Amino acid sequence: MIYAANFKTNHTRKSTQAYLEALNKKLDAKKSEDKVYIFPPMTALDIYEGAFTVGTQNAYPVHNGAITGEIGLEQLDEFDIKTILIGHSERREVLNESQDKVSQKFSFYKAENFEIIYCIGEPLHIREQGFESVIHYLREQFDGIDMHYEKLIIAYEPIWAIGTGRSATTDEIRTTHSALKQVIPDVPLLYGGSVKPANIKEITEISGVDGVLVGSASLDVESFSQMVLS
Ligand code: PEP
Repeated sequence: MIYAANFKTNHTRKSTQAYLEALNKKLDAKKSEDKVYIFPPMTALDIYEGAFTVGTQNAYPVHNGAITGEIGLEQLDEFDIKTILIGHSERREVLNESQDKVSQKFSFYKAENFEIIYCIGEPLHIREQGFESVIHYLREQFDGIDMHYEKLIIAYEPIWAIGTGRSATTDEIRTTHSALKQVIPDVPLLYGGSVKPANIKEITEISGVDGVLVGSASLDVESFSQMVLS
């Protein structure tokens, strides 16, 4: 299983260091085949030692340059960061990142041999239109993305389940993952959206779920490590 924590705009450099230290102690008990990823805010990126991989929540597709407020490859290289989250719905929706921009980032960081956790997910009005609309919508988020990239992980995150406390039902997760697995059978597929200690077991037991991407419930190290060790 893959357990990924997305801190978003939470935690500081200091609290991330304390979190990772505490997490690493807990990870002595994790199954050796399980993988843990942490995406802290950019100000907390650093070289950390431990049984986890630290990635960036975002980066611009440049080595360096005049892109105010963004970071590029040079800043990631400083801390040996080789993992990136691309296509998160908050970047698509709040920051208006188009599919075109998302796929440019993908191609750039693929060329740099990054491990990419690529997020897809539909808004509520699409879910309400029925399953065919959902799959059609999700497939459009594959435009310009190399689905055969060997360092690709997909995270399916229905937007209506993110940060709302309302996870998708096990049936919704099973049917959506199974449809996605027909398109991308060999790509690890995570579920994200209000995953927490109370529902981790039932979600990771669903066939077609290879792991989870966790926001709110990952902010507390006890809660996240409880999920990893579940
Ligand atoms: C996320 O934003 O990636 C996410 C899954 O958030 P939450 O767990 O808070 O729903």
